[in-house]
Amino acid sequence: MHKATATDLPPGRSNPIMEKIVSLCKRRGFIFQSSEIYGGLASAWDYGPLGAELKRNVKNAWWKAIVHDRDDMVGLDASILMHPKVWEASGHVDSFADLVVECKNCHKRVRLEEFVNISELPRPGAIEIFGQNERRYQELASSLNRYLAEIPDHQHPKCPYCGEQKWTGLRRFNLMFETHAGPQKDTASLVFLRPETAQGIFVNFLNVLDTTRRKLPFGIAQIGKSFRNEITPGNFTFRTREFEQMEIEYFTRPEEAPKYHEQWIEERRRWYLDLGIKKEKLHLRKHGPDELAHYAAACTDIEYNFPFGWSELEGIANRTDFDLKQHSKFSGRDLQYQDAVTQEKFFPYIIEPSGGVDRAALAFLVDSYHEEEVKGETRVVLRLSKALAPIKVAVLPLLKKNNDIVTMAQKIKDDLKKDFVAVYDDTAAIGRLYRRQDEVGTFYCVTVDVQSLTDKQVTVRDRDTMEQERVAVEGLKRYLIERLLY
Ligand code: ATP
Repeated sequence: MHKATATDLPPGRSNPIMEKIVSLCKRRGFIFQSSEIYGGLASAWDYGPLGAELKRNVKNAWWKAIVHDRDDMVGLDASILMHPKVWEASGHVDSFADLVVECKNCHKRVRLEEFVNISELPRPGAIEIFGQNERRYQELASSLNRYLAEIPDHQHPKCPYCGEQKWTGLRRFNLMFETHAGPQKDTASLVFLRPETAQGIFVNFLNVLDTTRRKLPFGIAQIGKSFRNEITPGNFTFRTREFEQMEIEYFTRPEEAPKYHEQWIEERRRWYLDLGIKKEKLHLRKHGPDELAHYAAACTDIEYNFPFGWSELEGIANRTDFDLKQHSKFSGRDLQYQDAVTQEKFFPYIIEPSGGVDRAALAFLVDSYHEEEVKGETRVVLRLSKALAPIKVAVLPLLKKNNDIVTMAQKIKDDLKKDFVAVYDDTAAIGRLYRRQDEVGTFYCVTVDVQSLTDKQVTVRDRDTMEQERVAVEGLKRYLIERLLY
């Protein structure tokens, strides 16, 4: 059983900024270590009260932009367990594997990507062999063997876990989690936890087409859990074995696929920027020809500059007609699209923007984290956008011993709660209450004081500018709606 470390990085690879974020997440109830009271389970995380709100806001913002705001998209919620043939058709049973090298001393496995980074080994171009690219695998295996044979053991890269310098050759490791459905544990009952949500969309292509009478181009969107038995999970919630994906499969005529691919890349980049990600922290990375999965015509990743380096938030691929053809072949059902006017039948091409909810939430947390000097003290503030902030308004009484103030503050909170996520807090002095709310990204603090009892006005404090304004209680909701909902 793997026990957890603070960020689940291999020893000696701690990162001060990530440590601060992890500590804030735990202290304020965004993200906890899974099964913490039992010592934790490595790389599994639980979202606490504020984290659950944040993650829900990320998903809602995506669903609104992708499904509700567009006429060419519909939603789907497919099951995690699927017929085992799905994974044969998709290629996952044969080749959803990471290439690994194993330390002969501690038997920890390191992905080839990482081994290449910690070694002198010249980066062998693409290392992904998703698909039946046996030739590529053999090339990589022999180039690695040559490298390990040519130099003495003491010059081999050090294992990041135990420091030893003895390695096995290249191996393949299938990342799918297996389980059994029903009371029998035999090969007939073997099922997989889905490693991506996409296949649930492909196998429902006909169902959606028949029930919604859609015409090309149109897309199906889905949010859901996926599971991969990652060899080196880590960097907090960035790479875990259980995670949530937000996936779109957009069906087009083959000749129009490149155009829609470009449109989706721009649309998805804009989504992150509109939700507050800093422009200079986001870039697009186009895959080179030898890096592409064998079925893909093109792929571009949206990457974020995390404290641990530029890393993928989302991949946008042109998957050609591979998936529908494969499922037609394996299921015996014709998954072609028929043009209603010309009667022409063909397999649509698919553009797939595929992102991670957890990675997006982590990027929003990291990007919004600010420390600043205020009157000689450090103020920590999460500058989350209004759509993402877990709490929109906190109502705070200046004097909690004054019953009239408390009653008035609670009444205001109850009324605001009908329209926003609003909380009441009287567990500390006002300065401290402000700091607590800043740290979790609460947009506005509304303070009720003695004067409020007579002038029926409250003080509204802005999280980012810290400016305060007196606002009549009567107009408070309108004031907040104007600022928070538009
Ligand atoms: P990576 O190269 O980082 O392993 P990938 O290219 O295998 O990612 P995809 O298969 O394209 O990832 O999955 C689409 C998205 O799902 C990724 O961009 C990422 O946001 C998310 N994702 C994939 N694997 C994980 C994971 N282990 N933990 C968290 N999110 C993940």
